[in-house]
Amino acid sequence: MKFKKRADISELLTIKVKDAVCDLYFPEIIDDLVRFTTEFDDYRILSGGSNIIAGDVKKPVLYMGKAISTSDTDDVDEYLVKTFMPSWVSNAALLDYSIKNGLSGVEFLAGIPGNLGGALYGNAAPAGSSWDDVVGVIYVIQNGKVFPFIPKYSYRSLDNKPEGCFVIYGAELILTKDTSENVRARILEFLSKRIKIKGHSAGSLFKNPKDGKAGYMLDQCGMKGFSVGGAKLSDNHANIIINTGEGTFDDFCRLKDIAIERVREKFGVTLVPEVQFWYD
Ligand SMILES: Cc1cc2nc3c(=O)[nH]c(=O)nc-3n(C[C@H](O)[C@H](O)[C@H](O)COP(=O)(O)OP(=O)(O)OC[C@H]3O[C@@H](n4cnc5c(N)ncnc54)[C@H](O)[C@@H]3O)c2cc1C
Repeated sequence: MKFKKRADISELLTIKVKDAVCDLYFPEIIDDLVRFTTEFDDYRILSGGSNIIAGDVKKPVLYMGKAISTSDTDDVDEYLVKTFMPSWVSNAALLDYSIKNGLSGVEFLAGIPGNLGGALYGNAAPAGSSWDDVVGVIYVIQNGKVFPFIPKYSYRSLDNKPEGCFVIYGAELILTKDTSENVRARILEFLSKRIKIKGHSAGSLFKNPKDGKAGYMLDQCGMKGFSVGGAKLSDNHANIIINTGEGTFDDFCRLKDIAIERVREKFGVTLVPEVQFWYD
C-alpha cells in the first residue's frame, strides 16, 4: 500500500484548511484494509473530506476516496433490488447510477458532497430523510476482520456503530425499481431546495440542538459573516462554515469556540460541532 509521510491534505478537504497534514495511507485492494486495521487500532479515515477540519494530525489516516472494489446488483423481487455499493463511491456517482438504472432511494443525496462511506458514517441527509430507509447491511473491517451489521440511525448519527476504530467497506442498499425520469425529477426537486454555498466549505458547522436551529441561534448572536483569520461563517447562513482563502486550523478552532460561547451565553445551549475537528 502506498504511504506518504506528513502529507499536505489541504486539497483533500473541501474547506481546504491551509495547514492540514498527516501520515496518509492509500489502500489499493481489500487486503490493504485488512492489513491496515490489523497493524493499527487507533487511526482516522478520510473519504470525500467534506465534513472534516484537520490540523497537524498525529494518528495514521487511511484514505478511502479511491476505487478498490466494484458494485453488484441483484433483484429481490418485482419491485426491489439489493445493491452492494463500495464506500469509496461518490454521492454524485451513486446518483448517476440510480438515474441510469431507474433505481429510487438515494435521491435525497442530491447536492451533498462526499462519498458513500462518509454519508453512512454521519447519516448525511437533508431534513426529513435518513439512511435508515435505504441501508440493509453495512460491511465494516476492524482488527483485520470483515463483518456485517444492520445500522440504526438518528439525526447525523450511526447509533450502533462498532466501538473503536473501524472502516466502512461498503453497504447493501435496498432500492426501488422506478423509471430514470422519475428518479431524475426527484433529484432535481431535492436540488432546488438546497442552500447555495459560495467558496470552500465543510457545510454546517454545528448540529441543530434538540429544540432549535443552530443557524437561527448564531444569527441572533450576530454571527452571520463573523470571521477569525480565514475562517468565516457565511454572510447568507450563520451555520455554514467557509474558508475565505488562507484559513488555518487554529482560525477554525477559535471561530468554533467563540460561536459556542456566544450561543451558550444568550440561549444557555451548548452547540455540538457537526464538522469533525481532527486535533490529534
Ligand atoms: C457544501 C456542503 C453541503 C453539505 N450538505 C450536507 C447536508 O445537506 N446534509 C448532511 O448531512 N451533510 C452535509 N454536508 C456534510 C458532508 O458533505 C457529509 O457529512 C458527507 O456525507 C461526508 O462524506 P465524506 O465522504 O466527505 O466524509 P469525510 O468528510 O471524509 O468523513 C466524515 C466522517 O466520516 C468518517 N468516514 C468517512 N468514510 C468512512 C469509511 N469508509 N469508514 C469509516 N468512517 C468513515 C470519517 O472518518 C469522518 O469521521 C455538506 C458539506 C458541504 C461541504
